[in-house]
Amino acid sequence: TYVVTENCIACKYTDCVEVCPVDCFYEGENTLVIHPDECIDCGVCEPECPADAIRPDTEPGMDQWVEFNRKFSEQW
Ligand code: SF4
Repeated sequence: TYVVTENCIACKYTDCVEVCPVDCFYEGENTLVIHPDECIDCGVCEPECPADAIRPDTEPGMDQWVEFNRKFSEQW
């Protein structure tokens, strides 16, 4: 899965939402979030993010961000 990280805070762009083929972006408290179970790992959102906030969960230290994304995407 891909995850939204701290650079998304207060970002006003939604380029990522528009390109996601499965509509798995949701609104969190002050960021967008990606539902980890709905993301199909296609990667098209990553280069679209102007803030470079979207990272693959295979990078080191991403576990906390997977939980963050899950928490806020499941409240809907
Ligand atoms: Fe959507 Fe693909 Fe990004 Fe996952 S990697 S959030 S499916 S655009």
